[in-house]
This record gives sequence, structure tokens and C-alpha cells, in this order.
Amino acid sequence: MADPGPLLVYGPRSTTYDFGPAHPLTPRRFGPGISLLEALGAVPNLAPEPATDDELEWVHEIGYLDAVKAFSVDPTAPSRAGIGPGDTPAFAGMHAASAAVAGGSLRAMEAILRGDVLHAFHPGGGLHHAMPARASGFCVYDDPALAIARARRDGLRVLYVDLDVHHGDGVQAIHWSDPGVMTISIHETGRALFPGTGFPDELGGGEAIGTKVNLPLDPWTGERGWLPALELVLPALAEAFRPEVVVSQHGADAHAFDPLAHLQVTTTAMGAAARLVDSLAHRYAEGRWLSTGGGGYDVYRVVPRAWSQVWLAANHAPVPAETPTAWQERWAEDARRYGQSPMPATFDDPPNAGLPYRADDEAADQRAIRIAEQVLELVLRTLDTRK
Ligand SMILES: [Zn+2]
Ligand SMILES: [Zn+2]
Repeated sequence: MADPGPLLVYGPRSTTYDFGPAHPLTPRRFGPGISLLEALGAVPNLAPEPATDDELEWVHEIGYLDAVKAFSVDPTAPSRAGIGPGDTPAFAGMHAASAAVAGGSLRAMEAILRGDVLHAFHPGGGLHHAMPARASGFCVYDDPALAIARARRDGLRVLYVDLDVHHGDGVQAIHWSDPGVMTISIHETGRALFPGTGFPDELGGGEAIGTKVNLPLDPWTGERGWLPALELVLPALAEAFRPEVVVSQHGADAHAFDPLAHLQVTTTAMGAAARLVDSLAHRYAEGRWLSTGGGGYDVYRVVPRAWSQVWLAANHAPVPAETPTAWQERWAEDARRYGQSPMPATFDDPPNAGLPYRADDEAADQRAIRIAEQVLELVLRTLDTRK
């Protein structure tokens, strides 16, 4: 059988997940983001539709679904369940819009489990902060946790890799006590950034101890710390855990230009990380790999190129040198209006995203590598004592 190529999960419902014009997680990102993927030859071929209540209840409490549905009808209701003015405000239709994000990742996982495709990419997915009974950090329903739960219903062991700058706390919490799910999150330390968790001593509950892995990095860590830390930890833990499915979250907010956090990662390093995840999916999981987007708040300069890096990795395609001129011109005015100019001319970044490499940066990068060594040693020791 000819390789059908990866699924690209995107459709009319993707832009309905919208907290309003002042909110950082804006559906504006899909304009420059999807058009750059299309310039690379991608065609969206799985349109997200809402997951059912029964499916959402694999990872969320029924009372929480009722709360989201109530806000969906009356967005002015008093705050509860993490929904209200602030990070995760109510909006009309929020249940269907949020359930569709979850449904997009879930149907993509089902296509992978059926063997229709090896890989799927859902740029609008990756809502990794949502908890069983509350919304958090722009996330209403936890689509990566739901896709993982679906693979677990088939009895498959799942490796979840979370590259977003924020700790993947919701996915970790939902699968905390399941030894068949290994979560590995690399993020800016909770001492400096939301959600304030994700430390090395969060190792999983009961039988699952050693399967929850956290790499908290200092502010200003760049590609010379972030990527080597991943290269130390990911292959070694995949070898120890032997996953049968890989799910990864590719939040673009670890980038140097991101306005909400303080790491200094590049699109070059994000591409290398995506290719590393792809290679592990082939080595251990017969190629079964679902990737999602995530955070990312520089939606013209960074998010489209970060998504392209994942898409190219899933297609085993080389990274072109230059972004299309027509694409740059199409979005230049919008980028200027939002202070995210100029449109980038290349997919890969210059070293350190073109920023000066200061002594503080080098120290943070060195610490990242030491943290990775310590976490790897701790986790392997913990997994060993469990046997
Ligand atoms: Zn592949
Ligand atoms: Zn994030």
C-alpha cells in the first residue's frame, strides 16, 4: 500500500474556538498558519466535529460538561469550574467549539489506530491544561488526554511528549496513575511561569511512579539547552518505556519571540525536536504518531513556521530555505498591525533567533543540560526500583 501521507486536522469549526479579539489564543493564527502549510502542499483532510459526551467523560467529570454547556448558553453566568473573566472566559457556543477540538484529536487518533495513516497533525489541538473538572489556561477540554485515553482503550502504551513552554499539567493529572502512559514535559520552570507545576519530583501515582517526567528550565534557556536536554532524555526514556503510540504537543510559545514566556528556542530547534519524535514513533510504535499544536502567541512570525516544522517532519520532507514571498506579502500588513513584523523570510531561524547570546543565556543552557541529566537518572532509577 502506498503511504497515504499524514492527516491534517483543520476545518470550519477550528476557528470557532475563540475567546474574543483581546485574547492571546486567537483563531487569527489559523490564517497565516494554515496558508503556510498549504503553500507546502498540505490539504486539510479531517475537519473537527464535536466529541460526544460519553467520549469527553473518559477524561472529564459529567458535572463539568454541564457547567461548560451552561456557559455556552449564558456566557454572563458567574464564574465557576475555571471559566469566567480572565484566562478562560465564557463564550456563546463554547461547548460545541471545545468539544470539536477534542473530537479532532480523537478522530485523528482513531484513524491512526485503524491503520489508515501513520501520522496526523492537529494544529488547533494541544489544550493540555484542561483538568477533569475545570478549565485552565485557555483550555476547556483536554484533547491530548482524550486521544491518549482512546489509545489506552485499545490497550496500547502511550508516550506523550509536551514541548509547549508551559507544563502539560492537565495531561499529567488525567493520566497520573496510569503506568501505561508516560508523559514527558519540557517547559519553563513553574517558579517563573504558569501553571506553577512540573517539577522533577512529580513522578506519577502508585504503580505509575516513574512514568511522569518533568524538565523545568530556567528563564532564557535557548536552543543550545532545550534541544540537547530533549536529545538526552527522549530516546533514553522511549527505550525504557517502549511506547506503542506517540502523542506530542508542539506549542510554539517556547520561541524567543513569544510574548508570554521567557525561553529562547528557535524554529530550527523545534523542527529538530519534531523529527526526533517522528523517529521514536517509527523505532518503537510502528510509526503511530499524533502531533498537535498548542500555545504560541506570536502568530505571524512564529506559529506558522513552528507548525510547518511539525508538518515537514511528519512528511519526512526537508525544510525549504525560504518562506514563499506571496505568503509574506499576504500577511505583512496584519503582522505590522499586531506588532509582529517583519514576516520571516526563512523557515529555520538564525542561531539564537538572531538575538545576542549573553553570558546569562549560556549559563541557562548549561543548567538545562544538567537538569536533563539529573531527571533522566532519577526517572531511570525510579522505574528500576518499580520492577
Ligand atoms: Zn514518520
Ligand atoms: Zn503554552
